[in-house]
Amino acid sequence: MGGCPGHPQFVLAGGPPADRPENRPRNPTHCSAMPIPATASIAYQAALTGQLVITTFHASDAATAVGRLLDMEIPPYVIRSATNLIVAQRLLRNLCTCAESITDVDGKPHRQSRGCERCQHTGYQGRRLVAESLWLEGTQVNQAIRTGIDTNQLRELAMQEGMRTLHQEALALRAAGITSDAELIRVFGLNFGEGH
Ligand SMILES: [Zn+2]
Repeated sequence: MGGCPGHPQFVLAGGPPADRPENRPRNPTHCSAMPIPATASIAYQAALTGQLVITTFHASDAATAVGRLLDMEIPPYVIRSATNLIVAQRLLRNLCTCAESITDVDGKPHRQSRGCERCQHTGYQGRRLVAESLWLEGTQVNQAIRTGIDTNQLRELAMQEGMRTLHQEALALRAAGITSDAELIRVFGLNFGEGH
């Protein structure tokens, strides 16, 4: 899968299991971004002491984010034990009500932008979030990180465990006529539709 490097990911890193009240972190630490190894290391040190750390960094999707953490010199055992959830997100523009219905080469109906006074001739009104959630706590993905699994295998494993990818979410919005092919290509790149 391709994707666009440089889009934000959203990571929740926590410490001990939160199944007991005494283990639940009371004061979340918000780390606005951890673009370099030193910042990432500090964020994970806090997470390992039981702080709930919420932070962002750049990667093309949730599976790729694990590789980015490894690139930032976070050891696999630390990622496994201190990361609860990685969420990759994008914003897609909603088609305006003036959009027209068309049929693509596969015979599937969808909608494309047109433009009117209401949308100031952009063809779009408002935006919505698409996201994919990669859970690490108690999953096979967590176990696989220890074995040095590559990004594509990790994504496949996460999908087997129920993760819906950004592309799947975006295609569902396209199929529902909420957004357009052109918008998916703008946000995800020309290789959209390949792979996942
Ligand atoms: Zn319009």
